[in-house]
Amino acid sequence: MRKTTITSLFLLVCSISFAQSNSYWQQKADYKMDVKMDVKNYTYTGTQELIYTNNSPDTLKKVYFHLFNNAFQPGSEMDARLQSISDPDRRMVKTFKTPEKTTYESRISALKPNEIGFLKVLDFKQDGQSAETKTIGTILEVQLQKPILPNQKSTFTFNFDGQVPLQIRRSGRNSSEGIALSMAQWYPKMAEYDFQGWHADPYIAREFHGVWGNFDVKISLDKDYIIGGTGYLQNPNEIGYGYQDDGVVVKHSRKTKTLTWHFLAPDVHDFTWAADKDYIHDTAQVPGGAKLHFFYKNNPDIKENWKNLQPKAVQLMEFFNANVGPYPYKQYSIIQGGDGGMEYAMSTLILGNGTMQGLQGVTAHEMAHSWFQFVLATNESKHYWMDEGFTSFISDLAENAINEKKVDNPLEGSYKSYAFMVNSGKELPQTTHADRHDVNQIYSISAYSKGSVFLSQLGYVIGNENLMKTLRRYYKEFAFKHPTPNDFIRIAEKVSDTQLEWYLNDWTRTTNTIDYSIKEVVEKENKTSITLERIGRMPMPIDLYVEYTDGTAETFYIPLRMMFGEKLNPFTNLKRTVLADWAWSFGTYQFSIDKPKKSIKQIIIDPTEMMADIEKENNVYIQE
Ligand SMILES: [Zn+2]
Repeated sequence: MRKTTITSLFLLVCSISFAQSNSYWQQKADYKMDVKMDVKNYTYTGTQELIYTNNSPDTLKKVYFHLFNNAFQPGSEMDARLQSISDPDRRMVKTFKTPEKTTYESRISALKPNEIGFLKVLDFKQDGQSAETKTIGTILEVQLQKPILPNQKSTFTFNFDGQVPLQIRRSGRNSSEGIALSMAQWYPKMAEYDFQGWHADPYIAREFHGVWGNFDVKISLDKDYIIGGTGYLQNPNEIGYGYQDDGVVVKHSRKTKTLTWHFLAPDVHDFTWAADKDYIHDTAQVPGGAKLHFFYKNNPDIKENWKNLQPKAVQLMEFFNANVGPYPYKQYSIIQGGDGGMEYAMSTLILGNGTMQGLQGVTAHEMAHSWFQFVLATNESKHYWMDEGFTSFISDLAENAINEKKVDNPLEGSYKSYAFMVNSGKELPQTTHADRHDVNQIYSISAYSKGSVFLSQLGYVIGNENLMKTLRRYYKEFAFKHPTPNDFIRIAEKVSDTQLEWYLNDWTRTTNTIDYSIKEVVEKENKTSITLERIGRMPMPIDLYVEYTDGTAETFYIPLRMMFGEKLNPFTNLKRTVLADWAWSFGTYQFSIDKPKKSIKQIIIDPTEMMADIEKENNVYIQE
């Protein structure tokens, strides 16, 4: 667990390029930005030079950029969304409650010109020649001066003007906890073009997809501000502010009014920062791994929690390193920022005033995203359950591992939420685009809870050891890429030597549910005949636990025919009998136990409850 050496990190990075199959390609965007921040007016100006490498087999005549700030304007798509959704994000609306009903008013619709967010691109040039641009909400469309052929590079240069919105949602100014600048999604960001074409999704406060590349960012602002964020600070001495291990913030003593912070971030697909005058900055070293940086307000009420968080954060990263794979960067920053918690490249912005438990929970979750999104960069808009769900799964396990008080099943909450969603009748398949979900609560459960159950239940299907092997191999093969659901399930198939397309299909592309029952238990000639029934449409292999009146117990395993394989015995201390397989089209399944019915105390389908059976009562037979 502590053997993560720099060498092994490099080996990982190197092996990736060799692991790429011939058909896979991904674009590259190398950014150079120089930004001047006016901390009084919350406006900024910048220059961007972007070297775009077209690794696709296609000739590109247009390119697209995201202008996320434009969402924070009256009349934007995000504003319209807030006004039409039944359960809007409470942070973004004013709530009016009467005994009869609750109504909401979008806070974005009330923003004044000096409070809105905006991002304007000026003087766009492609390889030195002017190119035509068109702003369409939160998207900039660029009509290229000359097409970019496959395997060609082109350099885009332009100026941009931005304003940090008053309304905080991930980014914004003066957060409820007093953080001056939360600079997420703050720059003109190249949209991703992949095997499914352009992903120029409008920003309506949901998910992201970005282009892999290197960032070289210079930020100039008032010398009293301290910046935390993505990347490695290149000039700590120049700005008079080193990364002290003792947490002492050394403010600059020179007479200069502004300082320029220079960051480099290699192999990332986003760049985020936050700044405040009152940040305390602490660091903690993960043995053999990354250095963790903590930026939080100099507020006596929260200091103890943020100090206690530091060893916990080290343990969390060690857990992820061991169970998924080594974190590949040299630093990770945990920054008190805008709202809630949001994952970014090599960093996270989180709320910082809550309880220690809450602080640890959000840190665990956002840090886990460094693996599931920031290194395994799935298209979140399309496959949100792969980043939120996988993150929830591994962070729930991590928290349980580092907590003194352990719970039997740290994933229980996800199963309960999933059951709630099924019963609500509002579930949509997980193939529904994130933006298309029109109930926030259902979206969240689908992404976080059902996504987490996808993994834990896969552990039921192929065995937990194979599940964890699958995660590690997935990380090894798809780090620094854009993996798809199919990429993941193919690895699970190879690791477990079973066929699993049915599992991916039923669970993620439909709302089919699982319901197996013990239909009948009858005695026949001193034997007990047991009949099981498949009531739900989704198939599953079955673990059956049988306990006898004499106190002994054994298990039976009914493989699922379409898997063409079996899992190892998960109950290593019990005798297991592998029965004939069960083919999906047969509604019932019958087998007998060589003992009289009266000797049976109880029979349970899936005693671990890792199979998300929506009707648990019929999973148990108890001898009267
Ligand atoms: Zn998340």
